Amino acid sequence: MPFFVSFRIGRARTGLGLFATMPIRKGTYVVEYTGPIMDSAAADAMEDRGNRYLFEINARWTIDGAGRANIGRYANHSHKANMEPMIGDKRIFLKAIRNIQPGDELVYDYGKDYLKAYIPVCKCEICMAKSRGKGLSTARKKKKKKQNANGNGKSRR
Ligand SMILES: [Zn+2]
Repeated sequence: MPFFVSFRIGRARTGLGLFATMPIRKGTYVVEYTGPIMDSAAADAMEDRGNRYLFEINARWTIDGAGRANIGRYANHSHKANMEPMIGDKRIFLKAIRNIQPGDELVYDYGKDYLKAYIPVCKCEICMAKSRGKGLSTARKKKKKKQNANGNGKSRR
C-alpha cells in the first residue's frame, strides 16, 4: 500500500511525537505500525515484562511495536484524534481521519483499556482544556462508552 506522507519526530507535550510537515488529506494512510507479530500468549508475557508498545490485531495476534524502526510508535494518544488505526491482515496502519495541516501533531485514540492500564491521567488537548490544565483521570467509570467501531477499544493500544 503506497503512501507518500512526510512528517517528523519532534518534542511533544508528553515526550516525543509525530508532526506533519505537509498537508495530509483525510483518508490518507500516514504510517504503518510495524514490528514482529506474536501470538497472544507471547504478547501477554511481554506485557508483563513492561512492553507498552504491543498492539493487538485480534484475539490471536499482536504486533510488538517497541522497535525504534517502528515510526508509528511515536504517534501519541489524544481524545481529539486526527488518525485512527486500520487493522488489516496482520498489519496496522494509522489513517488520517481529518485534514491535517503542517505542524499538527499526529495522534490517535489509544482506547480505554490502554489508557486505564498505562495513562492514568490524560493530558491531551481536550482533557487539558476540560481540567484547566491538570489533565483528566482515565479511570473514571461514569459513562459506559461503547468500544470504537473499528474494534480498537480492544487493543492494548
Ligand atoms: Zn484526553
